Amino acid sequence: MSSTSEFIRVDVNMISCVGIARCGGCLRVCPVGIFEKNGDTPAVVEKNQDECILCELCVQACNPEAITIRKLYEA
Ligand code: SF4
Ligand code: SF4
Repeated sequence: MSSTSEFIRVDVNMISCVGIARCGGCLRVCPVGIFEKNGDTPAVVEKNQDECILCELCVQACNPEAITIRKLYEA
């Protein structure tokens, strides 16, 4: 279990992500502010992860499939 979230873990694969300048979809679509800008890469706001409503808008917006959402309570 993550030390910073109890229920949901959001991960961005930085190798797959094409960057905010070229995409930025995750920052645009997330209704609850899970992502923040860290230079040209999206960073997950660790303390906000449990606010994720599992809408999967970020997953759908991410062409390179760089985002994974895991329900820790179903692990
Ligand atoms: S939607 Fe995917 S490719 Fe686009 S900035 Fe976010 S993580 Fe990177
Ligand atoms: S699933 Fe929805 S609420 Fe959760 S990080 Fe993605 S866009 Fe944000």
